[in-house]
Amino acid sequence: MSKTILIIEDQEDNRRILRDLLQSTGFEILEATSGLDGVALAIDRQPDLILMDLQLPGIDGYEATRRLRASSALARTPIVAVTSFALSGDEAKAFEAGCDAYITKPYSPRALLARVRELLDQSAET
Ligand SMILES: [Mg+2]
Repeated sequence: MSKTILIIEDQEDNRRILRDLLQSTGFEILEATSGLDGVALAIDRQPDLILMDLQLPGIDGYEATRRLRASSALARTPIVAVTSFALSGDEAKAFEAGCDAYITKPYSPRALLARVRELLDQSAET
């Protein structure tokens, strides 16, 4: 059964890049364009992994991650922070909020895929 990945990202171009990359490798994709919509969709659909843009309208990716972690069904779902504006301290802040990985744009598609697969494998083992 193919795994489902939720992309929470407000920029269409960035969503398209991730969608094309992940669909071409056989993942099912869900998409949300704001933190609040992303949290609601994640609770409703229980994706296997979440790609979380940190700069979002409304609640940002850190707050969205904290809210996801507060939901028992999503407490252990892998969340990968993806950011275009990496400032020092952002990575620590992302991990504190509950993210499992932190990727800065521009990223290597191959490295992103490898990280996604690694996290899915780890979560399948537990
Ligand atoms: Mg954004």
